[in-house]
Amino acid sequence: MVDFRQFEQNLQALRGRVAAAAAACGRDPKDVKILPVTKTHPVDAVVFAARAGFASVGENKVQEAVQKMAQAESTTASGMHWELIGHLQSNKAKKAVEHFDRIQSLDSVKLADKIDFEAKKIGKIQRVLLQINSGRDPAKFGAEIEEAEPLLEAVLSKQNIAVEGLMAIAPLDEAPDSARRAFDTLRTMRDDFQARFGVSLPELSMGMTSDLECAIEAGSTMIRVGTFLYGQRFYPEK
Ligand SMILES: *Cc1c(COP(=O)(O)O)cnc(C)c1O
Repeated sequence: MVDFRQFEQNLQALRGRVAAAAAACGRDPKDVKILPVTKTHPVDAVVFAARAGFASVGENKVQEAVQKMAQAESTTASGMHWELIGHLQSNKAKKAVEHFDRIQSLDSVKLADKIDFEAKKIGKIQRVLLQINSGRDPAKFGAEIEEAEPLLEAVLSKQNIAVEGLMAIAPLDEAPDSARRAFDTLRTMRDDFQARFGVSLPELSMGMTSDLECAIEAGSTMIRVGTFLYGQRFYPEK
């Protein structure tokens, strides 16, 4: 992993990319939050984020994250907030609810039932985003576009879940426009849900190292960035 100096330089460069992308479409760069993604990296990655002033980091696996949370306890990153950005299996919902401030990967009614049940048990309102497979990538998790509305309806009926917005990962294919289309689809879906359900869904979590510019143009309020800040990940993510 990079050292703190390099991290700071990368962060400065990242802020430059965000500012340029925001300027290009007339948005205020302050409206685009950065979520440092610390998966596969040691707890130092979390400490760097805390030192740079970040309040939250993203992790994609429950077990790995819970270990890192324990390690972070004895560091200056002890107050960090944690967001789950990877696929969540129902059998890990209990642990996820116990440990994560927000779950960005809620993608099925079954999982919503489980999260609500576990949150109720510990007296928590679990903050979530709905992950939508808005690029129709067969290799990606996320609710299918057609399932999104019934999923939102189910989640809105849960007393122990607070839905704050939508999340998507762009398809990995080579078509230059496919990321942009996936992000536009998510944005349109969010606007439509807000209008028809009369709810506020302010967060649009979309954009990573390779596609954050087009996500910002499409209205992203949170980009999730690992590689650009911390360098290459050296062990497999799956
Ligand atoms: C790993 C990951 C990221 C960060 O990806 P980079 O390309 O390293 O910036 C963002 N979102 C999700 C869901 C991820 O799993």
